[in-house]
Amino acid sequence: MSSYDKLRPWTEIENCDCKEITSIVLVDILTDNPIHCFNCKNEIDPEFLKLDQKLVDDIASWYGVFQSLYNLWLNSGEYEEYAKEKLTNKNSQVNVEGMSVAKRLSAYYPSYYWWFSDTDDGELIYCPNCAKKLDPNVKYGTGKCEACNVVV
Ligand SMILES: [Zn+2]
Ligand SMILES: [Zn+2]
Repeated sequence: MSSYDKLRPWTEIENCDCKEITSIVLVDILTDNPIHCFNCKNEIDPEFLKLDQKLVDDIASWYGVFQSLYNLWLNSGEYEEYAKEKLTNKNSQVNVEGMSVAKRLSAYYPSYYWWFSDTDDGELIYCPNCAKKLDPNVKYGTGKCEACNVVV
């Protein structure tokens, strides 16, 4: 992404074209849609998945807050600490809602919420929600927790 692109509408959408969707990850990689294929990491259109509209609305609502906090964290300065506290606290609204929409999405396909982590803090070995050891058997990230629908 160039600096110019930051002030342009997002147009370089890379859509998943896997033969079969096996699992989904809800992740902010600075695009408009957080629904990504967990196999190829490209975007999947919510209409293609035939998700119910309430779930899509709730994903959009959660994602708006996640993006806001993530942007505040990226901006550093006076917002950084506040945003990081919200993004790492397992009881914060953004994380509770992220896990909740991932769980509901799992009724369609096994789904995970990509938990925020600051690489400066080292790798997470335990689930940030339930503190059980993460399953390292993942294509992306360092591990997942099936019970919490979380991937780190
Ligand atoms: Zn895919
Ligand atoms: Zn867990």
